[in-house]
Amino acid sequence: MDQNQNKGPNGEGPKNKQSLLILLICIMVVLVCVNMLTRMTRGVSNEIAYSEFIEMLEEGEVESVVIQSSSLEITPRVQQSMGIQTTLYTVPTEDGNEVTKRLEEAGVEFKEEKPDVMGQLLYGLLSIIIPVAIMVGFLSFLFRRMNKGGGMMGGVGKSRAKAYVQKETGITFKDVAGQDEAKESLQEVVDFLHNPGKYTAIGAKLPKGALLVGPPGTGKTLLAKAVAGEAHVPFFSLSGSDFVEMFVGVGASRVRDLFEEAKKNAPCIIFIDEVDAIGKTRDTRYGGNDEREQTLNQLLAEMDGFDTSKGLLILAATNRPEVLDPALLRPGRFDRRVIVDRPDLKGRVSILKVHAQNVSLDETVDLEGIALATSGAVGSDLANMINEAAILAVKNGRKAVSQKDLLEAVEVVLVGKEKKDRILSAEERRIVSYHEVGHALVSALQKDAEPVQKITIVPRTMGALGYVMHVPEEEKYLNTRKELEAMLVGYLGGRAAEEIVFDTVTTGAANDIEQATKVARAMITQYGMSDRFGLMGLAETQSQYLDGRAMLNCGDSTATEIDHEVMKLLKKSYDEAKRLLSENRDVLDKIAEFLIQKETITGKEFMKIFREAKGIQEPETKQRVEEKARQQTVAEKTAPELPVSNPAETQDGTASREPVQSGTESYPESSL
Ligand code: ADP
Repeated sequence: MDQNQNKGPNGEGPKNKQSLLILLICIMVVLVCVNMLTRMTRGVSNEIAYSEFIEMLEEGEVESVVIQSSSLEITPRVQQSMGIQTTLYTVPTEDGNEVTKRLEEAGVEFKEEKPDVMGQLLYGLLSIIIPVAIMVGFLSFLFRRMNKGGGMMGGVGKSRAKAYVQKETGITFKDVAGQDEAKESLQEVVDFLHNPGKYTAIGAKLPKGALLVGPPGTGKTLLAKAVAGEAHVPFFSLSGSDFVEMFVGVGASRVRDLFEEAKKNAPCIIFIDEVDAIGKTRDTRYGGNDEREQTLNQLLAEMDGFDTSKGLLILAATNRPEVLDPALLRPGRFDRRVIVDRPDLKGRVSILKVHAQNVSLDETVDLEGIALATSGAVGSDLANMINEAAILAVKNGRKAVSQKDLLEAVEVVLVGKEKKDRILSAEERRIVSYHEVGHALVSALQKDAEPVQKITIVPRTMGALGYVMHVPEEEKYLNTRKELEAMLVGYLGGRAAEEIVFDTVTTGAANDIEQATKVARAMITQYGMSDRFGLMGLAETQSQYLDGRAMLNCGDSTATEIDHEVMKLLKKSYDEAKRLLSENRDVLDKIAEFLIQKETITGKEFMKIFREAKGIQEPETKQRVEEKARQQTVAEKTAPELPVSNPAETQDGTASREPVQSGTESYPESSL
């Protein structure tokens, strides 16, 4: 939104002035054009030579004449066509007395017009002033446009055009789900804005700014708006990249303007998104970037310069805190750091609840199940999923969103829409089926691997030809070495199945190989899980909140050894995957055949075939276990003399929740 639009009565001024100027210019242009046109028409069509006039006079064709200072206005005797009287003009080449004499002789009526000296002077002056005024007006209009809209000079100066201002954001902490720690530390900030006097009275210095740090889409902007909304103060927001321009000094002047404007509106909040765009460490080694440094210096100077008791607070957001200049993080600047990380299971459930508030859900919906299936998703993903599900429900002509819609939406957000027009050849379908079943079967055969929710070989718009969807039984914050090793075998199960069945390999395993290598490398360099290197830290995580890339931190020869270790670990996992699948080739064939026929297989169907093929008895499902526990509790409650049963069993979040889908409930550990 343009800042001007929010300025109320004050903001009207420049706009009105501008339109007045345009109107004036238009009037002037019209006047000059009319003037020029009359002169031209007069000159071109009605002017006659003096000799012609004399001839007309001699032949008695002149009715009357008006003698003007420098010309004669002649009314001819002969009427023009359609009765319109035309006036002719001529410039006497002889002196005036001669003309009067001739007119008297010819007996033509004439009068002499006194020369209008003032009029002529005014006319002369105006013919100079008007063009000059038009030029000046036009140039100043052009200059203003350039200054405002980032014209040729890139919008030198004012930050107005890009600053987004909201007088009242209307967002409160209730709209931000999860992120309890972040909200808690920002709650204090709201209090500073409400009662600055309370703090200054005791001698406490108010914080000038807080830095919101976290991955994209976790709600940093939302939190900043909520702070403004809670404190009922205006919200000024600008992205760091908006400051950066090609011309040195432009960014700095924008910072100045922004603070000037904000100070006028204090108490208020300034929010600078992507602050790393201007706040990068000043680099002196390679000459640096003058423009960015000047902008940063100006920001630092402004932050030092303002008086916190006025209620001005700067919030900034970044997902790369490690690149920020230390000067920005010094006390008195962004001294508070608020971490806004990816939400955990509880956080995801509450985010889903917030966004599902205004959506009609049917009784099948289990938001916790969706939260379990979306480990790693951020707030914006979850908001997107709820919306996708609502669209799907409308598309299918239903009035409420079902769990099926939500699960489908999860897939749409994670792997894209179904791409039905991509027809796989029969051979490709077989390969994809075996590949995907390979992953799932290896997972099912290993004790520590996660169960599958669904396998499908319907191609998706984001490139997958098929995929296995896992839904963990509960959220994990720690992984054991055994689990990671099982994960590696799972990743490589697809490629192993291809090799065992088709005796060849395809390009389909590229992503699996990438993931497996990442995990294997992390195990060796970061988690201290290799016998060769032990506890030595060999890599450092960079851009923790973005891609979490790990950079090696060791000598060249160690790096080569690490590569060997990674290779060894991957080879061991691949051999294990091949062994598991070869030993269970019949199960692999059965499930793959099913998948080739049906395109999709649920976890329940998968486990049914798996158990039948392996001759395993169907174990008690979780539902049945729960039912038993419930009956037991009821029985105990009805026998008052007995102590109440251990509530942990029935209150356990994962045990008491409804299954995500009928397919997942039959995943007891005992069957694996
Ligand atoms: P960031 O600034 O961290 O990139 P945003 O604040 O722009 O993320 O979040 C984008 C959208 O995602 C929000 O408008 C909101 O709809 C949703 N969202 C993100 N986090 C949350 C949350 N914790 N609670 C509710 N909605 C959220």
